[in-house]
Amino acid sequence: MITLNTHYAELKDAYLFAGIAKKTQAYLAQHPGQRLYRMGIGDVTYPLCDAVIKALREAVEDQAQKETFHGYMPECGAPFLREAIAAHYGRRGVALSPEEVFVSSGASDELGDILDLFSPQSAALVVEPAYPAYVDANVIAGRRLIRLASGEENGFLPEPPEQEDADLIYLCSPNNPTGAVFSRSQLQQWVDYANDRGAVILFDAAYEAFIETEGIPLSIFELDGAETCAVEICSLSKTAGFTGTRLGYTVIPKELERAGMNLNAMWVRNRTTKTNGVSYVIQKGGAAVFTPEGRAQVRAQLQIYKNNARLLTAALERCGIRYTGGKNAPYLWLKCPRNLGGWEFFDLLLNEIQVVGTPGEGFGECGKGFFRFSTFASTEDTAEAARRLISLLG
Ligand code: PLP
Repeated sequence: MITLNTHYAELKDAYLFAGIAKKTQAYLAQHPGQRLYRMGIGDVTYPLCDAVIKALREAVEDQAQKETFHGYMPECGAPFLREAIAAHYGRRGVALSPEEVFVSSGASDELGDILDLFSPQSAALVVEPAYPAYVDANVIAGRRLIRLASGEENGFLPEPPEQEDADLIYLCSPNNPTGAVFSRSQLQQWVDYANDRGAVILFDAAYEAFIETEGIPLSIFELDGAETCAVEICSLSKTAGFTGTRLGYTVIPKELERAGMNLNAMWVRNRTTKTNGVSYVIQKGGAAVFTPEGRAQVRAQLQIYKNNARLLTAALERCGIRYTGGKNAPYLWLKCPRNLGGWEFFDLLLNEIQVVGTPGEGFGECGKGFFRFSTFASTEDTAEAARRLISLLG
């Protein structure tokens, strides 16, 4: 008889998003035509910028002509895009070679696939509340999980735990869901800890483009010693609206070695086995993000979401609700008022003001009693949601 991967049975149901969908559908069935203000969404609202659209169109034309047509792309990414990304790091003072940059179809794909580099016997530390994919990908692999709870007392930015022995360490800054960002000295502590213990940090930088405070690291490779202990996973999803277009990149330094093996070389071997690369057209579109024109347009678009964050933070402050994030991050993480649980607060907002958010328990046990708003809705909807929050709780 075939033996399946029984670890799938250990996965918790994706009850959070199923629960949100069920409750909003039930509400709409009872209130047909009612408008909802969706402040829970993790998807972007505004389209790709002009520079990207132009590059995509040109690339489609290239595919129409024999002379410019591209078939399979290099598995680790097109040189033009790997070079553009390495230059992007260079402008921020991080020297990388293009061979240290791997083009991907997005951060989610990489967060799962990268686990191929590590033995199922290794232990993975996840700082919670956390993006659920970290836990789920390791449950599927049968790996031992160390859940490090964070809370208001440490600003959702815990220090490395002396007593734990993790092989893999997931860090996400700016954080989804808490919006917390590591300072340079806080992140340096984790880098030193990983180097001391021979662990590897998987640094999820999906939201680095939202950092605006001077001095907050945009990349873990700004820290001393990160090149010998970290892999950085990035995405153009939120940076440049590629959620549906799909493009990301992963940095694995050539210096990163464990047990006599080189992780960059292992990943080349993995990619050349498991993928035939990202499409030429999409990589051309992605390269446009790193041109001067693309950078300016993408920055302008991010301002829309940052402005949404300001609308929501102003509303929470008017209501006297404690929160983290909203600055340097597209998420706001708030303590449910009136001692409500996450789902109770969800019901209150849905029923009274038609605002939909995300209960904190979906991001780990320690998320109970918290709630997440995202800033990715349209400005009109966000402004209306903010107004309604003040009218209900202000
Ligand atoms: N990492 C974090 C922390 C995220 O919040 C998300 C998406 O919401 C991802 C990764 C996935 O990004 P991508 O669209 O590149 O797969």
